[in-house]
Amino acid sequence: MNTPLIDPFQRPISYLRVSVTDRCDFRCVYCMSENMSFLPKKELLTLEELDRMCSTFVGLGVRKLRITGGEPLVRREIMTFFRAMTRHLEAGDLEELTLTTNGSQLEKFADDLYAAGVRRVNVSLDTLDEKKFADITRWGRLPQVMRGIDAAQRAGLRIKINTVALKGFNEDELFTLTEWCAERGMDLTWIEVMPMGDIGNEDRLGQYWKLSDLRARLGQHYTLTDLAERTGGPARYVRIEETGQKIGFITPLTHNFCESCNRVRLTCTGELFMCLGQEDNADLRAPLRNNPGSNVPLEQAIRAAIARKPKGHDFDYSRQSVDGRVSRHMSHTGG
Ligand code: SAM
Ligand code: SF4
Repeated sequence: MNTPLIDPFQRPISYLRVSVTDRCDFRCVYCMSENMSFLPKKELLTLEELDRMCSTFVGLGVRKLRITGGEPLVRREIMTFFRAMTRHLEAGDLEELTLTTNGSQLEKFADDLYAAGVRRVNVSLDTLDEKKFADITRWGRLPQVMRGIDAAQRAGLRIKINTVALKGFNEDELFTLTEWCAERGMDLTWIEVMPMGDIGNEDRLGQYWKLSDLRARLGQHYTLTDLAERTGGPARYVRIEETGQKIGFITPLTHNFCESCNRVRLTCTGELFMCLGQEDNADLRAPLRNNPGSNVPLEQAIRAAIARKPKGHDFDYSRQSVDGRVSRHMSHTGG
């Protein structure tokens, strides 16, 4: 039963992203509508179930766990779960335990995260302007996130900033954001806005800022060196020679990154999505909940799901329409 997870296209599955909640203390305009309805608690995997689920994946060869959401740090008692994962790091079965956060709770949790074995954190931040920050996140406040980033760096966590590239919104901050990250020793990754979920009246095509354009603008200002580094995900990296920092570009829409995909995503209700851009998923909560004494049915369900991992996604922003959109929100699958 312990052969590693390999999908039908010979891609080893070594990376699991886990959404631990669909809730969030922000309402970013590209991610959620203002009035979101959230799942009832009984639908969610409990912290013990999350432990069992993740531990089973680790037993099947997953080496990297990224915790996400919604906002992972607003889930009650989430540190209990992080601390439970420490044993896999200590045993050498897990290489990395990490998270993606909006930073609002980092001031409170940075030290605990470090103590649990987390060493790197991705913080999502789209602007350095307080007013624009309040607008884009609807409910967020920039100073709180800044205090969180300070606390995380003090605790010894390495931070990467993730910024969604939004036309007419943060185009004018390309250099200020780059330089702010350079001064603080942080890498920066730009993300193309993806067509996920109903977000109310926001205009997707209006938000879309092509990263090839962003990259060309950076290249006029700095010397960029392409890096061969691949993470098995949709990011491509360059180094800015003047600052030494790494800049990433996540371009699922303009480039197809699927051939080296090494990851699957678990939602907070225990659905496994084999591809971020496809609707197909497998229910892992039932085999987990229905068999408290044995992980064998769960392992079988995981293997059956991996055997269905598709070759790639179908996102397409070409011309006037947004094709291949998926109806669930990013906060559901955990971006
Ligand atoms: N709340 C955490 C955060 O904001 O970092 C974790 C979950 S959030 C869904 C994960 C990432 O997805 C964030 O960097 C966010 O900016 C990004 N995201 C959300 N909706 C997106 C969309 N429609 N297109 C591209 N990125 C999106
Ligand atoms: Fe919350 Fe993250 Fe979505 Fe913003 S992007 S609403 S912080 S889950």
